[in-house]
Amino acid sequence: MFDVIVIGAGPAGSTAAKILAESGFKVLLTEKFAIPRYKSCSGQLIRKSIDLIQEYYGMPVPAYTMCTPKGTKGMMLTDDRGRISCFEQEGLNVWRSSFDKWLADQASLSGAEIRDKTAALACREQRDTVTVMFKGEQTCTEEASYVIDCGGVTGTIKRKLLKKPLDPIYTYQTYNQGSIDLDHRFFHAFLHPELSEYDAWFNVKDDLLVIGVAVKDISKTGHYYDRFTSFLKENHGLRIDKQLKTDKWIMSRILPGCPVDHGMGRMFFAGEAAGFLNPMGEGISAAVESGYCIARAITDNFDNPEMIHAEYVKKTETLHGYMKRQWSLVGEMADSFRDMRLKDHEERLQYGLSV
Ligand SMILES: Cc1cc2nc3c(=O)[nH]c(=O)nc-3n(C[C@H](O)[C@H](O)[C@H](O)COP(=O)(O)OP(=O)(O)OC[C@H]3O[C@@H](n4cnc5c(N)ncnc54)[C@H](O)[C@@H]3O)c2cc1C
Repeated sequence: MFDVIVIGAGPAGSTAAKILAESGFKVLLTEKFAIPRYKSCSGQLIRKSIDLIQEYYGMPVPAYTMCTPKGTKGMMLTDDRGRISCFEQEGLNVWRSSFDKWLADQASLSGAEIRDKTAALACREQRDTVTVMFKGEQTCTEEASYVIDCGGVTGTIKRKLLKKPLDPIYTYQTYNQGSIDLDHRFFHAFLHPELSEYDAWFNVKDDLLVIGVAVKDISKTGHYYDRFTSFLKENHGLRIDKQLKTDKWIMSRILPGCPVDHGMGRMFFAGEAAGFLNPMGEGISAAVESGYCIARAITDNFDNPEMIHAEYVKKTETLHGYMKRQWSLVGEMADSFRDMRLKDHEERLQYGLSV
């Protein structure tokens, strides 16, 4: 019998497990893949992510998780009319498999039991406990007072519980040897609807040029990727000598108003499973923060599931507000995201947006 079972060893799950374990709770953190597991990601840690890691983990992000250029300078955003905005902010460039393994190691060092290659198949809530069915080397069940689903966008537990169909954004990235005239220290995002159905991006990891597009209709991936690479060739002198790797993934489709599911009964959601994701696919800060918030809500109210829920909602209000504000700003920059603009006068005032 565990106090808490955490499903998914990404930034949300490892942070929740670490905080709960170091507070003296008996925690099981499960991951369906072998750790270190692969996660398609640009690996950009914004200032907020770096500060949250320092605050919750008590140490900086270790150098061995980083790739070159280690220190990044922020984002260059080209909107749907070709206008370029530079958001300068120092950040870090990490490989997600190393970074996420380091987070899981910290959870383990704090006393959480880690089981990788163990997928949660289903959860059933009884009066005072939740039973989780797992498929690993062998099938087994475990019980806990609470379960936190941090399974990310690919996780099935939340979708099964809420009977929600998967309606994601599809991403496609390639890793290339070659050259380009864009500044390697920036993450370059493009919102022009000719180049992608969502956003397109370019960044550098260990001298590899990473080129990516996000689409709503998966059958259009090749079409937009070709358009984006032609655009980079014509406008930024892209030359690809050799393509080394490609990857396809999915990302949450964030709806107007940025709805979030905190959970119900003894089951909670955190990170992308809860619906936290900022524009341009920036989700690590939200995952770490929501993982921390649910862990704190549990440590402070262990015997009262309703209080945990209320506290979790309260603790994530600022995070949720930040997400709404960021999406609204993107909605104001690009017509293809206009539905994301906050319309409510009070809410705009609350989040410091012009009225
Ligand atoms: C192409 C791309 C680029 C991105 N770039 C950035 C970036 O540069 N910076 C940034 O901040 N964010 C970026 N993001 C977003 C970021 O990756 C996510 O928002 C973040 O990883 C969410 O963290 P999480 O802990 O909620 O989920 P995840 O990191 O997705 O972790 C969930 C974990 O749960 C496991 N899991 C799922 N189901 C189960 C189950 N049933 N049982 C056990 N384990 C399970 C998964 O295997 C996974 O390891 C990017 C996303 C994509 C797709």
